[in-house]
Amino acid sequence: MNVVERLEALRTLGAHERGIDRALLTPPERRARALFASWARASGLHVTQDGVSNLFARRDGTRANAQPILVGSHLDTVPTGGAYDGAYGVAAALCALDVLDVRGVRTAHPIEAVAWAGEEGSRFPLGCLGSSVFAGLNDERTVLEIVGDDGVTLAQALASPEGGLLEGLPMRTGRDVAAYLELHVEQGPVLEDLGLSLGIVTAIAAQRRLRATVTGRSGHAGTVPMAMRADALGAASELVLALERAAREQGDAVATVGRMLVEPNGTNVIPAHVVFSIDIRSPDEAKLDAIEARLTEVIARVRKGRGVEIELEAFERRSSTPMTPALRDAIARAITTQCEAYADVPSGAGHDAMSLGKIAPTAMIFVPSTGGQSHVSEERTADRDLLLGVEALANAIVEVDRVVD
Ligand SMILES: [Zn+2]
Repeated sequence: MNVVERLEALRTLGAHERGIDRALLTPPERRARALFASWARASGLHVTQDGVSNLFARRDGTRANAQPILVGSHLDTVPTGGAYDGAYGVAAALCALDVLDVRGVRTAHPIEAVAWAGEEGSRFPLGCLGSSVFAGLNDERTVLEIVGDDGVTLAQALASPEGGLLEGLPMRTGRDVAAYLELHVEQGPVLEDLGLSLGIVTAIAAQRRLRATVTGRSGHAGTVPMAMRADALGAASELVLALERAAREQGDAVATVGRMLVEPNGTNVIPAHVVFSIDIRSPDEAKLDAIEARLTEVIARVRKGRGVEIELEAFERRSSTPMTPALRDAIARAITTQCEAYADVPSGAGHDAMSLGKIAPTAMIFVPSTGGQSHVSEERTADRDLLLGVEALANAIVEVDRVVD
C-alpha cells in the first residue's frame, strides 16, 4: 500500500461530518494504532509499544549494537481535525521502510517507524505527551496521573479495553536514539507559495503564550462623555495593534490575539473588563524578547493615557528547537539526488521533534499544505507531494544512516 492509500484508510477512523476526532486512547485512535501494527507486521517489522502507548516498528540494521534511527509522527488529531497532520508522517515512515526493502537497502542502524502518543494534547492537557515521556522530559509516573477532559486518568485510559494499549505487544525498553526524522505537512502556506514540494525545517519556533487583563470602568454608552471614559476594550485594541506592528517590524516572527473576552459585552455598555490571549512565535528568541519589551512599553503608555489597569501574565514559554545541521545537510543531499528543489523553512507549529531534539540529532521534512490549511477537516496535501515526501524520507534515512554514530 502506498502512502495515499494508507492515509485514506486512516482517514475513516474517527471521521464524522465535521472532520476527524481521534483523541489519544479513544476507540478510533486505538484502531489507528492497531492498523499501524498490522501494516508493520505485514512488512516484516518487529512491533513494540511502551507504557504510554507509543508504538514502534523496527527494521533491523547490520551493525551490532548500533542505536536505532527513529522516524515518525503522531496518529491523534485535534477535535474535528484533518487527515494529514501527524498521520502522514506515521504512514510515510512505514512506506519509507517498504521503499528500502524494495531497493534491497540494508542500513547499519536499525530503523524504527514510530507513532507517538498524544501529540496534540486533545483529551489529556499535555502536548507531545508520548514523545516527551520517551525523551525523559516528563516523568512517566506523573504523566500517568494526568486527568483527561472526561475525568479519566491516563493510567485508566491505557488500561481500558476500548481505547487502551494493544494486547499481546511486547514492551519496548531503552531510550537511546541515534537520530530522529519526522516528515510532516507544513500546516502553513509558504511552500505552496514558493511552488515547492519539499521543505527542510531550520528550527521549530520558540513560543510564548501570555494573558492580558485590562480593567477599565463601565458606564452608560450614551451618557459618559468620551473624555471621562476608561474603556477597557479601547485600551485592549491599542495593545492588539501594537503587537501586530511589533511582530511585523521584527520579521520572522508572528503574533496572534486569538481569544478575547469582553465584559459586560453589551451593545450599550462601556466595556469594563477585557481578557485576551497573546501567542508570539519565532525561531529567534531575541525577537520574542523584543516584542515583549515593546508590549511592556505600550502597556505603560496606554495605562497612563487611558486610566486603565493592565496586567500581563506569561503562562507558557517554549524555547526554540534548532534542527541538527548535519541531518539537514543529509536531507538536502537526499532531495538533490531525486532532482527536486526544496526551501529551508522554519516551523511555527510544535512537533514531536521538539522532544526528540532534546536527546538526539533531529531533523524534519515538510510537504505543502493546500491553501496553508491545517487543524481543520479541509486540510489537504496533493498526492504527488505526499509521494515525493516518502521518497525524500527514504533517501534521507539512507543519508542519515551514514552520518550518525
Ligand atoms: Zn502534527
